[in-house]
Amino acid sequence: MQDFDAVIVGAGAAGLFCAGIAGQRGRRVLLIDHSAKVAEKIRISGGGRANFTNRDLDPRAPQKHFVGENPNFCRSALSRYTPADFIALMDRHGIAWHEKHKGQLFCDRSADDLIQMLLRECDAGGVTRWQPCAVSTVRQGGDGAYELDTDRGPVRAPRLVVATGGLPIPQIGASDFGLRLAAQFGLRMVEPRPALVPLTFDGAAWAPYADLAGLALPVRIDTGDKKTRMAFDEDLLFTHRGLSGPAVLQISSYWRAGTPLRIDLAPTVALADELADAKRRSHKRLANELAAWVPARLADAWTAQDADWQRPVMETGDKALARLAERLQRWEITPTGTEGWRKAEVMRGGVDTRDLNQQTLESRQSGLYFIGEVVDVTGWLGGYNFQWAWASAHACAQAL
Ligand SMILES: Cc1cc2nc3c(=O)[nH]c(=O)nc-3n(C[C@H](O)[C@H](O)[C@H](O)COP(=O)(O)OP(=O)(O)OC[C@H]3O[C@@H](n4cnc5c(N)ncnc54)[C@H](O)[C@@H]3O)c2cc1C
Repeated sequence: MQDFDAVIVGAGAAGLFCAGIAGQRGRRVLLIDHSAKVAEKIRISGGGRANFTNRDLDPRAPQKHFVGENPNFCRSALSRYTPADFIALMDRHGIAWHEKHKGQLFCDRSADDLIQMLLRECDAGGVTRWQPCAVSTVRQGGDGAYELDTDRGPVRAPRLVVATGGLPIPQIGASDFGLRLAAQFGLRMVEPRPALVPLTFDGAAWAPYADLAGLALPVRIDTGDKKTRMAFDEDLLFTHRGLSGPAVLQISSYWRAGTPLRIDLAPTVALADELADAKRRSHKRLANELAAWVPARLADAWTAQDADWQRPVMETGDKALARLAERLQRWEITPTGTEGWRKAEVMRGGVDTRDLNQQTLESRQSGLYFIGEVVDVTGWLGGYNFQWAWASAHACAQAL
């Protein structure tokens, strides 16, 4: 039996970061991951350049960009380790980065720079890394220490950190290890479901839009539900099975099965007024006129849905024009489902934060910690999920 001060299971964003800090604070750390490749999710993130944090995260109200049963839970960790702290670390390692849309920061070269940085931090802390290595059982010994049976023999430590992430993309190593372990020790769970995920629609209801696959346009999208209303101004992408793009990924984290979404497909114009005006001056077909405000393919598909909309705009009745404007600016549509774990970027739900300490990420089960995506804290698209991984790992490492 080998002894360590802490064993961390999961060498992804949170596990690597936590191991490096704890090691540099003098702890003897073992980091275990069942995958042969290190941090595959970082490697594929942000189109291969890792959107590693977001400058718009508000240190006074960091919970604004996070979803979960208790969005305030993440506040302590996020305000003690901010995007500026992570940027300073990147700068110390000489990793060039740039800002894109809405405060999103990406590596200039490749996500691999970020992975190598995390590995160097682990080396600086003398972290022992076993990878690939599977953990078969975890139990608590009489002295309260955790004993793990692994591919490379049994290990023991008074502290066990679970950083095994969420369920998305099982083909690159995601597993329910963390959720099962939480259940084994009697911790509560918020039901996991795919988030930041494309939404799908029924065959027949979707037929008028099926030919629009590949079309992208800026929209305003909202949940339409008065109580939990949430809206995003982002790009929408039509796919063969439904809708995707940043607008839909963002809203998917708030969408409840069976409820409709409302989409404004021409968010920057007062379409009813524009069409009424066009009727006074234009001889064009309605679809051609409409193409001044929305992509031509969309204008064609939309007007094809109603015989009243297939005439020159001048000959179209006022009511028909108003109906068209209403349909385009308050398109109400109910998804039948999501593309699931294969396509989701993150997991909503996870270990219930009521059973975790927000300062240390230690659970009600003494010596057992949960960090990163396995916890019921889900960030918006745009670097917020990595920032949660860094901040929760940092908070935990301080406590180990
Ligand atoms: C396609 C895609 C793109 C993304 N892009 C971004 C982005 O640009 N910006 C952003 O902020 N977020 C992004 N995310 C989300 C982000 O990758 C995750 O939120 C983040 O990696 C979570 O960190 P984590 O350490 O909790 O989990 P992970 O990084 O997933 O690490 C978990 C680790 O645990 C290991 N593991 C799992 N089960 C076991 C087991 N049974 N035994 C041992 N080890 C195990 C896994 O192999 C993995 O290495 C993206 C996600 C996806 C899927």
